[in-house]
Amino acid sequence: MIAGLDPIPIQELRISSCPKVWLVDGYLDDLQSLTPIRGEVTAEHQGDMLSVKGDIETVVNLSCDRCLNSFNQQLGFTEQELIWIRETYPNPNPKGITSFKELRFTLPDSMVEIIDPSKEFDPERWIFEHLNLRLEPINLCGSNCPGPTNLSSPKANQNIKHTSHSSENFDPRWSTLKKLIA
Ligand SMILES: [Zn+2]
Repeated sequence: MIAGLDPIPIQELRISSCPKVWLVDGYLDDLQSLTPIRGEVTAEHQGDMLSVKGDIETVVNLSCDRCLNSFNQQLGFTEQELIWIRETYPNPNPKGITSFKELRFTLPDSMVEIIDPSKEFDPERWIFEHLNLRLEPINLCGSNCPGPTNLSSPKANQNIKHTSHSSENFDPRWSTLKKLIA
């Protein structure tokens, strides 16, 4: 829990004449970081949309999935997100979407987050989700990674290479690893 990052009701943002700004400096309960999570989050009510901007930086300690060594990595984002203020996703009929005059551009419904007008915007939750999005599913310490310590024989390494090249239906989450050993 980061001090000062209190959620704010959407209704309060609606009647407020200026954007709400949170200064961020602290640690999240659900995302361990080496340094405090620092930056700024701004939320502004804009008609049917909630405009949220964030500029967040921290450093996390990760364990490499190849060599198992731990390493530090910068984690952060500069992001502006428009969240649609409405109770439910609209009917997928595109005619319905054009009737929302405040919607300046059309995005596929699945790509737009919605927030219930009777609910609160939680800046801490928003930061957590956006930092999580930037964590790689596979952690690699870098281009100088010594490789798997328990598979150090040349033959074993060849097998790994062969498998990754011949498998066409490989899990896309492994693509970073595939690039590294290609
Ligand atoms: Zn490594």
